[in-house]
Amino acid sequence: MINNPNLYLNFFHNNNNAFMIIKDKKIIDCNDRMVNLFNYKSREDIIDQFNFILFPNNQPNGLSSVVEFHKILNSIDNNCNRTFNFVCVKSNLTEFEAEISISNHRDNNDTFTFVTIRCITDFTYDKKLLESEQFKKYINASSNYFVALDNTGNINFVNKSLGALLANDSNYLIGKNWFDIALPTNIRSKIKSIFNNLMKGFIRENQEIYNQPLLTKSGEKRIVMWSNSILKDECGNIIGTLSSGHDITDKLQIQKQLMEVETNFQQLLENINEIFWVKNINTEDMIYISSAFEHIFGQKWDYKNGIKNFYASVHPADLVNVKASFNKLTEFGSISQLEYRIIKPDNSIRWIYSRAFPVKNKDNKIIRIVGVAEDITERKELQDSLYKMATTDYLTGSYNRQHFLKTSEGFIAYARLTRELVSLLMLDIDYFKKVNDTYGHSIGDEVLKELVKTCTSVLGEKDLFGRIGGEEFAIILTGYNRDEAFKIAEKIRKKVEDLTLKIGGYTIRITISIGMSMLENSKCDSDCISNLLNNADKALYQAKNSGRNKTVIF
Ligand code: GH3
Ligand code: MG
Ligand code: MG
Repeated sequence: MINNPNLYLNFFHNNNNAFMIIKDKKIIDCNDRMVNLFNYKSREDIIDQFNFILFPNNQPNGLSSVVEFHKILNSIDNNCNRTFNFVCVKSNLTEFEAEISISNHRDNNDTFTFVTIRCITDFTYDKKLLESEQFKKYINASSNYFVALDNTGNINFVNKSLGALLANDSNYLIGKNWFDIALPTNIRSKIKSIFNNLMKGFIRENQEIYNQPLLTKSGEKRIVMWSNSILKDECGNIIGTLSSGHDITDKLQIQKQLMEVETNFQQLLENINEIFWVKNINTEDMIYISSAFEHIFGQKWDYKNGIKNFYASVHPADLVNVKASFNKLTEFGSISQLEYRIIKPDNSIRWIYSRAFPVKNKDNKIIRIVGVAEDITERKELQDSLYKMATTDYLTGSYNRQHFLKTSEGFIAYARLTRELVSLLMLDIDYFKKVNDTYGHSIGDEVLKELVKTCTSVLGEKDLFGRIGGEEFAIILTGYNRDEAFKIAEKIRKKVEDLTLKIGGYTIRITISIGMSMLENSKCDSDCISNLLNNADKALYQAKNSGRNKTVIF
């Protein structure tokens, strides 16, 4: 057959079974029986479509049809067959149960899957078939429900699974009226009259599939998806029905729960202050972004220009970081955490904290990126002000004693690595008590501020300055030799000496004394800063005792 293409085509197109061939999840060929079975108009409606147009979203067990189907596809070795029951969906969205046989065929690197579909629920059962022992065996073993009624609605036959649901003993059901036994009272008379009209031939044979509640022996209501076939005798007289159905109660329940979860989730996403977003990895498209974006960024997400427009609102100083973090995420799947600034349309600057995660498929390939982002400007400002309060002196704005000492340790450690000389200068205002006594404490405060300005104007960016006591200040200098450091100290001292401060109508002049100590990197193992401070203090004492307004090196 394989060697004769005509034979193959004849077999394929004139068979009673629905056939199709799948390649790369797409239907590449099918026969007319398939078109009829799925209620399409022509083969063109199916060919080139993805195979999931044949299946409802979920199977009765609640699992995704697409995932389940591909799981089965992937589980089959080359040239092997597998047959399984699966719920399919027609173009008009009615569902039916089918027996599906599939086999994979590899042909030069391409894998084709040959699929045969036999409808189980839509079977046109005839009386003979029903009476055949083989058929009874088949439907008795089925987990689907089967029931045959005579033309008065009395039960002729129920299969095992339905019998067990309705009574303790299936034989009890035979001859009883189906509608009285199996239907909830509120719908009994309505369904009975439809059935009677059907039996009288008043309404056309109904092959439609419909859902109906079923009353079990324990009084529980189950929802069953039914499909009817009319049974006729040899003369064509209607003698009853054969119906098959499957229980979709759990499926409906799961669907309802999922919908509830989804609605809750949706509401949550739209009401939280954080932006939640989902992005496609292959295209630059944003699949979802919550409404918090508009609030935080001051503009709607631009679906047309997408990420380009987003980058345009990122602060230029942070753009490189934002892009790098994003690339790392898409390329290596590493979780990204980032703080960056944005500029809103009204030119205000906001801080954003963003976290993003890759979403992988079962082959471990990244397919989506999901992320959350929040405006942390207020938190950041609070953090900054707390940090400032903890590290600086409120009066002069210079580092406080604690922070000066902590930071100086880093300076010393670094100087040790680079084998640079560390110098510590300790400054104290001469006769400052007199300033306070003469002009008042608040004027004294202003003098302190002016002194700090003068000192820092002489210092460079890599020099460390701090207020270590009331009117005592310290400086760490690294990268200068002894003479250079001394020169800097003297420059400060002279600049202060030359200052003429005009505060509160007074003209005030001050001088300072400076004690200096130095640290050759090898000469200290631990607590270097205490050593330096002690020695500088001694030098300062000397400077005070030898006339003040001078720099003394320990
Ligand atoms: P000496 O030349 O020996 O240093 O004399 P001095 O008067 O400066 O003596 P000392 O350094 O011991 O005096 C420190 C004075 O600084 C005592 C205190 O009244 C004043 N002082 C300390 N902190 C502050 C401050 O925050 N504001 C003001 N206005 N004065 C302060
Ligand atoms: Mg002092
Ligand atoms: Mg003093």
